[in-house]
This record gives sequence, structure tokens and C-alpha cells, in this order.
Amino acid sequence: MPRIVRLALVLAMCGGIAPALAGQDCAGRLGTSRVMEVDPAGLQVGTKHFPQTLDLADKEVVLTFDDGPLPATTPGVLKALARECVRATFFVIGRNAAAHPDLVRREIAEGHTVGHHSMTHPMTLADMPYDKAVADIEKGLKADERAAYGEAGAQPRVPFFRFPGFGSSPELLDYLKRRGIGVFGADLWASDWNPMTPQEQLDLVMARLDHAGRGIILFHDTRGQTLKMLPAFLAALKEKGYRVVHIVPSPARTAAVPR
Ligand SMILES: [Zn+2]
Repeated sequence: MPRIVRLALVLAMCGGIAPALAGQDCAGRLGTSRVMEVDPAGLQVGTKHFPQTLDLADKEVVLTFDDGPLPATTPGVLKALARECVRATFFVIGRNAAAHPDLVRREIAEGHTVGHHSMTHPMTLADMPYDKAVADIEKGLKADERAAYGEAGAQPRVPFFRFPGFGSSPELLDYLKRRGIGVFGADLWASDWNPMTPQEQLDLVMARLDHAGRGIILFHDTRGQTLKMLPAFLAALKEKGYRVVHIVPSPARTAAVPR
């Protein structure tokens, strides 16, 4: 879908309950309560790693999924989100995006935000020589852009980045700041890199969320246990009165779309 049409669609959906799929009936679903425009300039958010986070009200959550896309799990995650009209942010790995561009395009077509998570997911970028770390970040940006839009410009269309394993360094944070790319940590996570049953996964993340009350939540759309737990998690959010906030970069990249 051309960028301008996609933006128009996103903005058109900002008015009320925002369907994950155009034309979808979202009555009675969890839904997406609002869209937050986030200025990437100098952005460093997520209280696990930084002193500040997004300006979320009590019971507001931002759902993020790292490390995809993968054909075995990402389509199921997208299906679960679409069923509840929920929009999320995917921090994709460049090599996975290059291997599965159809899934990256599907994420965007279904209204999600696609951010960046390096080319090869080094653990960690901070432990690599600076030049090699920068090269991996830049290769990832280009691979993601090509997968998503067919071409890569000097600046990524969504200047959102998350460090693999949250392994940032002051030098790399400075680099991204100079590049105009915002950095996302998380406020809480599901620890879904540890094997556990979907029920244990659900109990853990809900306990953490009930304790925190709001925040940016980190999942992995590459984990089967996360996929299996997602419908129950979204149902629990709805039942407990949590509201999903969708993040998009600001300013919008075109002046042609009326606001
Ligand atoms: Zn990761």
C-alpha cells in the first residue's frame, strides 16, 4: 500500500475505536483506545533502562513484540491482535525481515508499527567494536525498510529502535540520537525467553502488569508460548479495564493528509 494511503488509513482510524483491519467490526472487542504520536528526537523511554517512559495514564499499555517476523508464530500473533482490534509495535530483526518481507508488509497493512531491532541481533551491540555495532544497526534499518517498502532511504520511515538484550552503550545511544532515531526500552516484560506454559506466562505478565498498573510491555512474537497465551492475555486486559495505546512516530511524514 502506498505510504500516503496507509497514513490516511491510520489517521482515519484514529477517530474512535481503531480497528486493526479496515472495515472490521470492533464492537465488544478490546480495541485500541488511542494513538499516541511519539517524537523520536532524543527519545529514550522504558523505566527498565531509562529514567523516563511514555506519558501513559493509569491502566494504559503499549504492546511490543520483538525478534520477528517468523512464519511459525508471527501470523498467529497478528491473527490474535486482529481478532481484538488491537494494534501493536513490532521491533523486527533485519535478517528476518529480509527473509519474510510478506510478514513485515502484513504487519504494516494491518495497522501495526514496525520498528527496528538490528540486523543480526548481537548479544550485545554494546560488547562489539563501535563501528561494527553501528554497521549492524544500519544494515538492519535498511533491510527492514526494503522489506517493508521496497526501498530504503537515508532515514527510516519509523525511526524507532530497540537494542537486542537492551545492550546499549552511551556511544551508541549518542549515535542514535544524532541519527534522529528514538530508543525504546520497556517498563515490564513477560520473560518469555524463559520456557514456561502459556498459563504460567499469562500469570506472570498479568501479575507484573497489575503491580505496575501501566507501561510498555515486551513480548516476543517468535515464541510459541507467547502466541498460545495471547488470546487469554487480551481477554484479561479487557476484563480488568486496561486500554491499549498504539504508538506512531511524529511528526507524520507527510503534509498532504489533512488532520
Ligand atoms: Zn530481541
